[in-house]
Amino acid sequence: MLSNSLIELDRRHLIHPVSSYRGHEELGARVLKSARGAIVTDMNGHELVDGFAGLWCVNAGYGQDSIAEAAARQMRELPYATGYFDMGSEPAIRLAAELAERAPGDLNHIFFTLGGSDAVDSTVRFIRYYWHCKGQPQRDQFISIEQGYHGSSTVGAGLTALPAFHAGFGLPFSWQHKIPSHYSYRNPAGDTPEAIIAASLQALHAKVEELGGPERVAAFYAEPIQGSGGVIVPPKGWIKAMYDACAAMDILFIADEVITGFGRTGPLFACSDEGIVPDFMTTAKGLTSGYVPMGAVFMSDRVYDVMADGAGAAAIGHGYTYSAHPVSAAVGLEVLRLYENGLLANGRRAGERLMAGLEKLRDHPLVGDVRGRGMLAAIELVVDKAKKTPLPTDAAPARRIFDRAWQQGLVIRAFANGVLGYAPPLCCTDDEIDMILERTRLVLDATLEDADVRRAM
Ligand code: PMP
Repeated sequence: MLSNSLIELDRRHLIHPVSSYRGHEELGARVLKSARGAIVTDMNGHELVDGFAGLWCVNAGYGQDSIAEAAARQMRELPYATGYFDMGSEPAIRLAAELAERAPGDLNHIFFTLGGSDAVDSTVRFIRYYWHCKGQPQRDQFISIEQGYHGSSTVGAGLTALPAFHAGFGLPFSWQHKIPSHYSYRNPAGDTPEAIIAASLQALHAKVEELGGPERVAAFYAEPIQGSGGVIVPPKGWIKAMYDACAAMDILFIADEVITGFGRTGPLFACSDEGIVPDFMTTAKGLTSGYVPMGAVFMSDRVYDVMADGAGAAAIGHGYTYSAHPVSAAVGLEVLRLYENGLLANGRRAGERLMAGLEKLRDHPLVGDVRGRGMLAAIELVVDKAKKTPLPTDAAPARRIFDRAWQQGLVIRAFANGVLGYAPPLCCTDDEIDMILERTRLVLDATLEDADVRRAM
């Protein structure tokens, strides 16, 4: 059978990202064949609602013909143009201008990358260069947050705070530091916004002092909502408080919007709702809705001018062969048009339905927490709600839950700690949101019957 030979070829030759290589050889691949809207079909013809938009990226939904046409048109006309040697292409210039127009405040300068990891990596290079131009090269310490994710480049993986990205890789670097997450469901400071904000501010100031004071600290990285750490939503006012604290110490603030950007939480950028203008904003995923790879670093006028004046006639040595790729840019322009011609509005409506439906799952014996904003949400499963006891991890319930959801016709993200993540395409219909919710309840009911879960309750 064709499918069997494909799975065998995959076992032998394709290395999957962030996976157990031996575990994958045993389990084999789930191969997707086609998709339309929010529905994906695997090679056995099994149809599933994609409650995770690929990897939180297919915000526009699958099968948007106008995106495919924009890419094909650009490939025929001009498939490639370098940005080196002051060259460029029309779609890249137009996309940069459109993005700058919509970005908060003075984030007027756009550097295009291939995805989120190299967007984060680029900010680290830009920031070092910025402090060099300012005559403060000793500002070389970077702070990020526990449970944060900032990509898988060597430098970004060090800013990331997930153990699997560090163990065995010699990371983090000695200049990369973390403060505790604002995770309100399990926060030693308590669960009120005031207590959590005060604890984060205190942790930031303590870390800065430990590093020798603000004059040693280059930058602070935060996701408006922590994604890969388990969809952890900070209390209202948290981002503004952290931003103000950084600004008062002249520490650059980077909003990593790789997941939250492009309508995922409601507005085009989550920052716009927070009353801040970060020094840098990193984006990817929804920028091209996953149809082709692309990321974008948004740089403020303030930072740009320091770097531009500091370098003078010298070249600033950072860039990629595929920076500002014209095909990706053409896709980005079309995706942006779709967002503004109804997709953002539909996402906001569907997001309300999703959040309201997930809230109703609080009555389920396994659901300890429900959190999210817009089309980015999670439920956290526990075996004892009062004590917040996590699911037993010895029998890998995450894998079991993922498999069960798959059988029910639902793709979700099942985190190892019993958190289920949701990030459906913004094009979801009411029926599709209801399918996500109903299938989730079936999965939870089945999990409740698992012997190890019952024993732990
Ligand atoms: N930053 C954040 C906040 C992310 O969520 C991700 C990816 N999930 C990245 C950076 C890295 O992006 P990519 O996988 O496109 O390299």
